[in-house]
Amino acid sequence: MMTAGQALAAIRTAVGPKGWIDDATAMEPYLKESRGLYRGHCAAVVRPASTAETAEVVRLCAAVGLPITPQGGNTGHVGGGVPEGGIILSVGRMNRIRTIDPLNHTMTVEAGCILADLQRAADNIGCLFPLSMASEGSCQIGGNLSTNAGGIAVLRYGNAREQVMGLEVVLPDGQVWNGLRGLRKDNTGYDLKHLFIGAEGTLGIITAAVLKLYPRPKARETALAGMTRVENVLDLFAQIRDAAGDTLTGFEMMPRIAVEFSCRHTPGVADPFGKPHHYYALIELTSSRPGDPLRDLLQDELARAVEGGLVADAVVANSLSQADALWKIREAIPEAQKHEGGSIKHDISVPVSRIADFMNLAIPRMEREIPGVRVCAFGHVGDGNIHFNLSQPIGADKQAFLDRWQPINRIVNAMVADLGGSISAEHGIGRLKMNQLREFKTEPEIAMMRKIKAALDAGNIMNPGKVIPPQDKR
Ligand SMILES: Cc1cc2nc3c(=O)[nH]c(=O)nc-3n(C[C@H](O)[C@H](O)[C@H](O)COP(=O)(O)OP(=O)(O)OC[C@H]3O[C@@H](n4cnc5c(N)ncnc54)[C@H](O)[C@@H]3O)c2cc1C
Repeated sequence: MMTAGQALAAIRTAVGPKGWIDDATAMEPYLKESRGLYRGHCAAVVRPASTAETAEVVRLCAAVGLPITPQGGNTGHVGGGVPEGGIILSVGRMNRIRTIDPLNHTMTVEAGCILADLQRAADNIGCLFPLSMASEGSCQIGGNLSTNAGGIAVLRYGNAREQVMGLEVVLPDGQVWNGLRGLRKDNTGYDLKHLFIGAEGTLGIITAAVLKLYPRPKARETALAGMTRVENVLDLFAQIRDAAGDTLTGFEMMPRIAVEFSCRHTPGVADPFGKPHHYYALIELTSSRPGDPLRDLLQDELARAVEGGLVADAVVANSLSQADALWKIREAIPEAQKHEGGSIKHDISVPVSRIADFMNLAIPRMEREIPGVRVCAFGHVGDGNIHFNLSQPIGADKQAFLDRWQPINRIVNAMVADLGGSISAEHGIGRLKMNQLREFKTEPEIAMMRKIKAALDAGNIMNPGKVIPPQDKR
């Protein structure tokens, strides 16, 4: 019988020197979660160059029960890619675009492709790959699919799950499932790819995917509107959605404090308005039809909203660079918030019709719980998704503030549950929310998840200790 040490030696041989990292300094970036909440440990970071090498690594791990933590760009927010022993299997060297089929509007790509590279590849053939988020320069498509990532264009195109037509997966016993079918119609029983999308590496390693392409937008208009109340933001959303139909691609909300954080801490980011507003909506319309009069539409609707008292002030970008500058205010928020001390985070969703209720309940409650707390609740409001983040009171002790993370989470999560929402809109469960899952999934749901996990990964080697709460604590 092979020992774990022998398996590691065989893995090292299988992947060669380019695929093996066990030097402490070189391993360090792989061991930490992007927000610094978790730091793990493992025997080695293994970086196979192909699906065949990945399958061999998994087969060797399965033989000795060695845990595998899959990792992509390591930009996840919930500790899902942080190992607790075993090996990290980083898919970053598998980064080829295997084929592009312009007529079928698909591309077949390897899991380690950086999201921004895939967007560029689509653009190069006059198409759009619409998945987009602030981490796109470093997150990888395997990670995006494993977390069913959302981002800024979900309103129009759906989340990562909706961009996938087929998958290739290395299963926990080392078998390769080739499901790389580029079919828009395929009703042949269970749609297995959906098990692996959003599974956060607990069921297998995604090694490649067939992704959907869309017509590239020929027109794009971006605007920022300043408003007084959260209800105004939602009324404006409904108005613009009615007028713009499916050209409404993004609708993001930012409170004043988020704009202040971005402007204060991000070189080149500036508030385009002369005076402050309590809330801002960042609106993007796109159309693949050349000459679509989006600008007139957006200007007319914003003028109507100003006349009706819904919007206090609005600006429509005059150029691509102005549009990018408006987006930069939004995209800079997560990084800017780090400069304001500790931050207790929530990635929640509620039905769009309950967002105002949530904000009007949760903000005063947080201000009562932690006097001086700075609520920075921003996000993809058109999807009902709010990053309900709390920055520590000015001058407060950072650690004492962060120590309240769990009790504050419980209060916010209970409000979310009352409003029919979710405690994880787009970042997943990982390690951070694993125990909270018990309170938000029904018994049959958790039982089904356990059965699926046990059926595919009887040895529990694929990302153990993540997503599925352990049985004995129920
Ligand atoms: C600045 C910033 C902005 C962000 N904005 C958004 C946003 O708008 N929307 C959003 O959804 N997320 C956002 N995120 C979170 C993060 O970028 C996404 O979750 C992203 O999809 C993770 O991709 P990754 O390659 O970094 O995955 P990783 O962090 O490496 O891994 C994430 C999870 O997937 C598993 N995994 C990774 N690759 C594979 C694979 N090939 N097979 C099986 N399992 C795998 C890991 O084990 C882990 O559980 C943001 C993060 C940052 C830092």
